[in-house]
Amino acid sequence: MLALAKPSLHSLSLDELAAHLKEHGNPSYRARQVADWLYKKRIASPDEMTDLPQVLRSHLAEVFDSSKPDAVRTLGSKDTTQKFLFRLRDGNLIESVLIPASPALYGEASDRRTICVSSQVGCAYGCKFCASGLDGWTRNLDAGEIVQQLIAVEEKSGERIDNVVFMGMGEPLANYENLLRAIRIINAPWGLGIGARHITVSTSGLAPQIRKLAEEPTHFRLALSLHGATDEVRSQIMPVNRKYPLAVLLEACDYYVQKKRRIMFEYILIADVNDTDEQAHKLAKIARRLSAKINLIPYNTVEGLEWSRPSRPRQEHFHSILREHGVISTLRREKGHDIAAACGQLRLQTRRETDVRLPA
Ligand code: SAH
Ligand code: SF4
Repeated sequence: MLALAKPSLHSLSLDELAAHLKEHGNPSYRARQVADWLYKKRIASPDEMTDLPQVLRSHLAEVFDSSKPDAVRTLGSKDTTQKFLFRLRDGNLIESVLIPASPALYGEASDRRTICVSSQVGCAYGCKFCASGLDGWTRNLDAGEIVQQLIAVEEKSGERIDNVVFMGMGEPLANYENLLRAIRIINAPWGLGIGARHITVSTSGLAPQIRKLAEEPTHFRLALSLHGATDEVRSQIMPVNRKYPLAVLLEACDYYVQKKRRIMFEYILIADVNDTDEQAHKLAKIARRLSAKINLIPYNTVEGLEWSRPSRPRQEHFHSILREHGVISTLRREKGHDIAAACGQLRLQTRRETDVRLPA
């Protein structure tokens, strides 16, 4: 892993900023001023923070990194899903996706503009259907790199983002400390001010971290990528299931739900893998146990991988079984608004772009 030279200015909480400034002889109100520049006025460079004393501006520039991610490419148009490819300061590439207001995101009418952010470069979990894990894991993003995806996408698109999903590249719970740090900044009134109910973390099922999340004071949303209702099926497509089999995972989920928190399931429908009636009945049973809603997502084909989505009637049949069990579920229809389609395939897209179009 390439060590980042300086800590990112966008990684600090207000308290940390205040403590740092105090240590260097500044009054505490300076922290608020700096945060206003970063998150309200959206100025990243200390040189441009004109109401700070020159000596403080120089100090911040010397000690912290505040460089913006370099937007290398934008794909898509304003009323469809837009993808942004960013080059980080060490040259690694990540993508963020902006999804316009959609009539049915997670089963709720949503007039919100959603950003799908990456939490790592690559992913170590190697789910068999996912493009993000194909090349393995390169490194964690720091909190500033996560937060800056929102700022950069707002700046590039001219849109105001009011919903955040951690469904881009990477397994967010494998980057726990940086994730939580970023969420606090995204959520804080002095930061980006996005309500916790509008922040969703998606995980492939890291049981110990789910338990840890249950103790966090901020109640943001958790989505569990289940994709299989028995160990046999789940282990076939998600190697993480061998480490945390369903019994262990669901116990962690029980614990989470006992703490008055809700979990939502994501279930990709893959033809002849996890779309049988038996899986539907078992999935419904698990959902009832955890009072979870289910989001069914027809699999989005990844070039070079063998999987495909079931026929529409098959998808609807699966959906109807869940409904018979009284489970609340949605079946994704509009391709353009499909978050997983937009987010689950970042790695391949990024690689292709890198190979074909970008200078080294
Ligand atoms: N690592 C986390 C978050 C990133 S993946 C997780 O696995 O939950 C975000 C979602 O996209 C997950 O539910 C993932 O299973 C899904 N996904 C990955 N590849 C996909 C594909 N080709 N089609 C549809 N969804 C996909
Ligand atoms: Fe990683 Fe999630 Fe893709 Fe699995 S689905 S490889 S955990 S990004």
